[in-house]
Amino acid sequence: MSTPTVRLPTGESIGAARRRAGQIVAALKRRYPDARVPLHHENAFQLLVATILSAQCTDAMVNRVTPVLFARYRTARDFAAARPRDLEALIRPTGFFRQKTKAIIGASRTLVERFGGEVPRTMEDLLTLDGVGRKTANVILGGFYGTPGVVVDTHVRRLSQRLALTGSDEPERIEQDLMLLIPRRAWSALSLRLIFFGREVCTARSPRCPACPLNRFCPSAKYRGAPPWMARRGRGQTARRPGAGAAAGRARSGRTARTARTPAGPRPKRS
Ligand code: SF4
Repeated sequence: MSTPTVRLPTGESIGAARRRAGQIVAALKRRYPDARVPLHHENAFQLLVATILSAQCTDAMVNRVTPVLFARYRTARDFAAARPRDLEALIRPTGFFRQKTKAIIGASRTLVERFGGEVPRTMEDLLTLDGVGRKTANVILGGFYGTPGVVVDTHVRRLSQRLALTGSDEPERIEQDLMLLIPRRAWSALSLRLIFFGREVCTARSPRCPACPLNRFCPSAKYRGAPPWMARRGRGQTARRPGAGAAAGRARSGRTARTARTPAGPRPKRS
């Protein structure tokens, strides 16, 4: 059996990258000692619904919507029997409400029919649910069941590339690369901390490299967050060029400030 490898864009050895990754893990832990999922929930099913709702929406908005939602629909059985129109009206502020309604009702029906209304504890079973891909499954596994997993959302993808911990643009490959470089016990918390850090400091368009607490460990610091190995990445993957502010960038792309945010959770269909 061949040993899994990581092809790093800087040509760094795996041993050196592991040591550097350890320093990154420690620095992020100091900055964000509390690495809990910010989506309010009381059980695995509520976390599943909240994570589906968080696609292209802020956690704060999801947390405003879910108290009313969960007061009206308590179990997977309730959601499975919900009228789409009623659900859509309640979750409308989170955006993509029709797709999310479909995903939530579909997932709930599968939970009732195949899993006795309980959220399964394995990746394989979670992936059978509507609207659930590896990212959402890892949020549930790590955030509720305590099974470590690497959640690769847009922030984790961008930061892994800037930090040169992966040479890939594919979420599954990035997940594998991080799993090889980071100790298993740190997977879930690191994902959350990278998401927090990507929203706050190492943003898509304006990474704050000079003031960044990771700049000593980051090969992209000298490129102001736009290293050559990311030169051909898609929109939002490279840093802001001088004179191209976030608002200007959004105006060019036709996105609003709200839709430009990138959430911890999945995209509406499957992620
Ligand atoms: S040094 Fe710059 S590119 Fe690297 S993690 Fe910090 S903000 Fe991001």
